[in-house]
Amino acid sequence: MIRVKALRKTYQMGDELVHALSGVDLSIEENEFVAIMGPSGSGKSTLMNIIGCLDKPTSGSYQLNEQEVADLDDDQLSTVRNQAIGFVFQSFHLLPRLSALDNVMLPLRFGRPATGDRKFAESLLERVSLGSRQDHRPNQLSGGQRQRVAIARALVNKPSILLADEPTGALDSKTSVEIMNLFTELHQAGQTIILVTHEEEVAAYAQRVIRMKDGQVAKIDIRGHDV
Ligand code: ADP
Ligand code: ADP
Repeated sequence: MIRVKALRKTYQMGDELVHALSGVDLSIEENEFVAIMGPSGSGKSTLMNIIGCLDKPTSGSYQLNEQEVADLDDDQLSTVRNQAIGFVFQSFHLLPRLSALDNVMLPLRFGRPATGDRKFAESLLERVSLGSRQDHRPNQLSGGQRQRVAIARALVNKPSILLADEPTGALDSKTSVEIMNLFTELHQAGQTIILVTHEEEVAAYAQRVIRMKDGQVAKIDIRGHDV
């Protein structure tokens, strides 16, 4: 599903070059649940942004579903971003004036709004145990509930990959467990999940932990209890 080869990303900072990624090789298969860890500045966000088609590498290859992402034009790229990838963020990124349901339906406006969409969005809120809260606004929901709305929104275009950047970073540990149990259920239902975290307890839910250091993959741990 994801093939990354000799991936480099270099930023120009004044006269200095910052090597955010210096040669990353990585494959992630369909229905894997992967965590990316590493110290601050090790390249995690840069890698996630490239995998999420928010940013392009300086060199190297990134294939998503057998398509070389560098070959896509801007329109194709934005289609991939909106249809193939669901994003979950630390700070939820819900629109405060919209109901939970309207937040979930938001990404549909970019694509193909159809009559079944509302029902599908409602079913996603049920799936994240918020069926009775669909008319609530974000400020009427707890942090964990907001993140569940954000996860439902990330799923609304049936993405092949769910990308989560520190999804539990703003949550207490009990709520984090709830959210990680939800990711586990989604994974068991077939969803491919890639998440960045700096918490070992969170990474422990993943099948593989990719440890970044200085813009490279330093180590990959395989956690085991899944197939
Ligand atoms: P992490 O997510 O692991 O903290 P990042 O991918 O954010 O790491 O950053 C990797 C390196 O690239 C760091 O040295 C960071 O300062 C640098 N970097 C990231 N984004 C930019 C940018 N837009 N401009 C310049 N340097 C950047
Ligand atoms: P924070 O740690 O403050 O929660 P986020 O995880 O929310 O940060 O955001 C991570 C990155 O994703 C940021 O660089 C941000 O610019 C980008 N981003 C935020 N919202 C969106 C969005 N809706 N679509 C695409 N990129 C986004």
